Amino acid sequence: MKYCKRCVMPDTRPGIKFNEEGICYPCLTHDRRTEVDWEARWQELEELADRYRGSNGNYYDCIVTASAGKDSYYQVWTMKERLGMNPLLVSIDNFSWTQTGRENQNNMSDVFGCDMHLLSLSRKVARKLFRKGFEQQLIPCWYWDRAVYTYPLQIAIRLGIPLIVYGENINYEYGGEQTDETYSALNQINNNVVKSIPWDAWLDDEITMKDMNPLIQPTQEDIAAAGLDPIYLSYFEAWDGYRNYEVAQKFGFKSLEEEWVREGLSEHYEQIDTIGYNVHPWFKFIKFGHQHNTDILSQWIRSGRITRSEAVEQIKEKEHILDRRMLEDFLSFLQISEDHFWSVVDRFANQEILEKRDGVWRLQPQVVRALEKGGEVS
Ligand SMILES: [Zn+2]
Repeated sequence: MKYCKRCVMPDTRPGIKFNEEGICYPCLTHDRRTEVDWEARWQELEELADRYRGSNGNYYDCIVTASAGKDSYYQVWTMKERLGMNPLLVSIDNFSWTQTGRENQNNMSDVFGCDMHLLSLSRKVARKLFRKGFEQQLIPCWYWDRAVYTYPLQIAIRLGIPLIVYGENINYEYGGEQTDETYSALNQINNNVVKSIPWDAWLDDEITMKDMNPLIQPTQEDIAAAGLDPIYLSYFEAWDGYRNYEVAQKFGFKSLEEEWVREGLSEHYEQIDTIGYNVHPWFKFIKFGHQHNTDILSQWIRSGRITRSEAVEQIKEKEHILDRRMLEDFLSFLQISEDHFWSVVDRFANQEILEKRDGVWRLQPQVVRALEKGGEVS
């Protein structure tokens, strides 16, 4: 295992690559931003918008995949107000909401005046599949995550709205197998966030293919026939989650800190509309030795918002911590006991990089030393 010398990303992130100097691809990608002609890229986006604007008469002319988060605010503001489009927002409902998340969603509708098509997945099916994903692969939210990618494509085909607007290209910006810089999000389903798992792994006496409808990726033929044009906004404008947060705030977006200061996290503006869902990214710590903070702090280092040594201190202090409210909400939704939860976690804990101290999984000392200096674990 090794850490990037510049940010705090380890090579245990699935699919991430490093160069020979020990710098991760997301850092190198960030460097390349200075070579991009962003004015020309914005022009390309305007031309794309010109092509689709009003193409359905008074009906919607694009789909924006948007929930209630700060990136959603940025996407909706861009498509509706800066580019004058008539978007339909498509979202997958959360299973539990923070009060702040609800208010942000209502406020977004008040401010931008867009219709939202919200799919509420079956709680009964979700509970079973979350449990299966948790117990068999420690990926409880696969079912929900996959629907986020697939369902908007299905709706776009059904409603005849070819342009679909996503936020960032996760692999290109943060690391993963798809390192090519492209505006097209056609291949998003293969970006490691929802790895391909055969349906048989999910089906049983109670779960059938009828329960999987929202998760089915339209075929290439159907996508081509409908002329779908899914895009990453991050290709057209340099993506910065913190900048999106600042823009969202101008439109009344509220951070979570007044409602709930989440233990173990370094920020209070990402993934704040859900509660138990956030246990899912914490599992990355159990399997790969890093989770949400590493992603965020690495972004902050790249954009000059924090130094590497400050980030290292945050990770040492927080990365292993699982917030109590998150955990309780997760247990309550899956209807499992805390003992069962920890027995499954123990089964998946990566003992090459973690060790249990005082009953808590922590990074091993030699891993912490590699994190501190940036480089290989020796
Ligand atoms: Zn890096």
